[in-house]
Amino acid sequence: MSTVQKLVFIPCPRCGKKTAYTGNPTRPFCSEACKNIDLAQWDEECYTIPGQHVPTTPDSDELD
Ligand SMILES: [Zn+2]
Repeated sequence: MSTVQKLVFIPCPRCGKKTAYTGNPTRPFCSEACKNIDLAQWDEECYTIPGQHVPTTPDSDELD
């Protein structure tokens, strides 16, 4: 009797290369490079979010 380990292959989100999911330290990416590229892009997107400048308008109803 033999135990057949079914390997799961998933396409890399970065380059689409089929890569083993099981035992892959860089999953779901095929390699460290693709992982880093994707992370860097996310990082960039985080920094390019336009900061909405909300003008502070003092709503003072002072009776003069
Ligand atoms: Zn890749």
